[in-house]
Amino acid sequence: MIAEVYIDIPANPVNKPFDYRIPDYLDEVIQPGMRVTVPFGRTRRLGFVTELKEQSEFKQLRAIDSIEDHAPVLTQELLDVGLWLAETTLCATVTAFQAMLPAAMKAEYKKMLQVEESEQLKAEDPELAKIFETGKQLSWTEITKNNPELLKRINRMLKKGLLSIHQLVRNQANAKKVITVSAAVSLERLKEEVSQLSDRAKRQKEVLNLFIGKSEDASYKPTMNALVQNGLSREAITRLADKSLLRLEQIEQFRDPYANYVQQTQPLDLTDEQHKALAPIMQSMNTGEHRVFLCHGVTGSGKTEIYLQAIQRVLELEKQAIVLVPEISLTPQMVLRFKGRFGDRVAVMHSGLSRGEKYDEWRKIREGKVQVAVGARSAVFAPFKKIGLIIIDEEHESSYKQEDTPRYHARDVAIHRAKIHHCPVVLGSATPSLESFARARKKVYTLLTLKERVNRRPLPSVQIVDLREEMREGNHSVFSRLLLEKLKDRLQKKEQTVLFLNRRGYSTFVMCRSCGTVVKCPHCDISLTYHRAHHLLKCHYCGYEQKAPDTCPTCGSDAMRFFGTGTQKVEAELNCLLPEARVIRMDVDTTRQKGSHEKLLCQFGDEKADILLGTQMIAKGLDFPKVTLVGVLAADSLLHLPDFRASEKTFQLITQVSGRAGRHRLPGEVVIQSYTPDHYAVSDAARHDYEGFYQQEMELRHRGGYPPFFYLALISLTHSEPAKAADAAERIVSILKKNLSEASLVYGPVVPAISKIKDRYRYQCMVKYKREPALIPVLQKIMQHFQESGKDSLQVSIDLNPVVLM
Ligand code: ADP
Ligand code: ZN
Ligand code: ZN
Repeated sequence: MIAEVYIDIPANPVNKPFDYRIPDYLDEVIQPGMRVTVPFGRTRRLGFVTELKEQSEFKQLRAIDSIEDHAPVLTQELLDVGLWLAETTLCATVTAFQAMLPAAMKAEYKKMLQVEESEQLKAEDPELAKIFETGKQLSWTEITKNNPELLKRINRMLKKGLLSIHQLVRNQANAKKVITVSAAVSLERLKEEVSQLSDRAKRQKEVLNLFIGKSEDASYKPTMNALVQNGLSREAITRLADKSLLRLEQIEQFRDPYANYVQQTQPLDLTDEQHKALAPIMQSMNTGEHRVFLCHGVTGSGKTEIYLQAIQRVLELEKQAIVLVPEISLTPQMVLRFKGRFGDRVAVMHSGLSRGEKYDEWRKIREGKVQVAVGARSAVFAPFKKIGLIIIDEEHESSYKQEDTPRYHARDVAIHRAKIHHCPVVLGSATPSLESFARARKKVYTLLTLKERVNRRPLPSVQIVDLREEMREGNHSVFSRLLLEKLKDRLQKKEQTVLFLNRRGYSTFVMCRSCGTVVKCPHCDISLTYHRAHHLLKCHYCGYEQKAPDTCPTCGSDAMRFFGTGTQKVEAELNCLLPEARVIRMDVDTTRQKGSHEKLLCQFGDEKADILLGTQMIAKGLDFPKVTLVGVLAADSLLHLPDFRASEKTFQLITQVSGRAGRHRLPGEVVIQSYTPDHYAVSDAARHDYEGFYQQEMELRHRGGYPPFFYLALISLTHSEPAKAADAAERIVSILKKNLSEASLVYGPVVPAISKIKDRYRYQCMVKYKREPALIPVLQKIMQHFQESGKDSLQVSIDLNPVVLM
């Protein structure tokens, strides 16, 4: 047999499979979707088997060395998705395959073989059985290392269930293991042993008597720890195991990070609006028809309840569901809503889990132990076999686009997979992306609208404060007089406030007031950020840091000033203005530790603080009954970025943050501070007017030739020598112009807003197109031709439908 193998060579995309001979002893063992080690050139490489075949057009084939997996890690469907992903995002196929696996799979792991039925094994394959006389669990590699012929026989025994395989992930990804204890011999034999033991072996007798007492209960298999905690001797237990009277087994336990705090919930009676939205989703599931729904519902309109009831149906149909939520809104509150409804049928995957925990969750999905996967972007690759529904909550979120290769958008992958599985996709948002809303308008997607909050709770009232006016009247604080007044009022009433600031650090930059020098990173073209805690300046791109200077590095003046406003500075000012207020600050710096995010939110939920001050990460998903005031400190902080989506992002952010207020009994109020209060992104958000915003923004996009009217392809180049980057960029632009149709527009080369990162100079070219069949082939050629490997060489990256343009 021959296997087609995609080989893991990162730099230069080898985008075709190579044929390898399957040695006899691996015949029947190797299946598509497994990883193997193969000789390649003079090295050995990891590869993915995608197909088996009888014949190859090549004569002299090298043979596969060994296998990495005992069972396929990718299903046939995911292999196909990988091939599609490689083509549509212009990445190496193996890169696409790797992206679908949990990180722990990339680590080393050890396969253990375990005997399940020793008597039967002895009968079927005495030689194999003999090997296992030294221990019930042996390392796969050690057994097969010197005797590869055994593989085939082991495989046969695996199929018969006489042997089983267990994986132990080394390093931190270790699956959690427990040792269980059970009787290895008959009741009579146990009794006999007790009578024969000397009086000195009191501890052993104790253990034996326990097992004699439990002999009726065949399932009695306590853990070693449980026995020891009950006062039995570990040593005595081991001794009895040595005498083969007791059996010790090491079993892997799935860690459940949410084990401790799940409360069971029941489906709620849906409102009319919810009913109307759910019905067509149900119908699509029942008829097994692929459709994409855009569920546009204001915050608090009960979208999540719709998801839950749709998933309920998926389970009744004996299928599986994937729910994607943005990483930052993957809060315990969100997770508990799914766990509370579906309990241990849910796997959760997010970055807060350890590698081992993530691996456990992935394994539960692959082994069919759970039916619902809730997770961030990469959960879209959950290895389910019968997907019945894919939900993408907050579908407008930019985090659904991966910024590294493969540069995929989870929405595209979801729709692609849903087509294969003939199931619906539900995109949900209070502020849909312009692209999605435009598709819904054109009836490519089905629009479902929820205009009201559940129980008709009003949307919060929003007031805009003009910060220029505040300045003119002598108020230089980050707090307008209106916001400060309302803060005081909430403190008095013992209600809570959420303050939102889209910055991190203490000040965004340091500038000399005498000569205007801004301290920049020596490796990147970007100003350094001041961190007060250690009086440091840090680069957020490359991690470079230095002590904050007291005097200007250019002119020596001591008039160094810290500009901009960060969460630390706001916190300091709050402490000054409202010393009695208890403040919780949430930003990248206070949430770096695992679990700190949850802890801070819990504290706030328990009313241990009056004010929650934070960045992006508090904009979503939070739902606290006592929050009646939300303040947006600088609504325009995103507005002036060189990005055609700046207005859209501003509108979304203000809407999301405002949605945190008054979700329960107490009515909510929002204060938005802005330097450009008349900008439609700010004023439409204040009026909760999505449609108004959509109209105006679509007009501007149309005029500027931006999505959703045009597609974009961004080609970025970097080189340690600026001239070489510029030269290659020129050549690429001319190749594009020559090969693409007239209707497509080629821009550049230009130097982007950040011209240098990590000592590498950057150039960009852009293509705007509507339909361009020649695009992918040309871009593939460009990649093959220009991409070089090595550190001081030209790097080309191509981003189709980029989310970040800088
Ligand atoms: P969204 O996801 O649209 O922001 P949620 O699903 O979080 O809205 O719903 C907001 C609140 O209303 C939640 O506390 C939820 O439990 C509650 N809720 C949702 N649907 C119903 C319903 N049909 N009856 C009663 N309460 C509901
Ligand atoms: Zn100076
Ligand atoms: Zn830097």
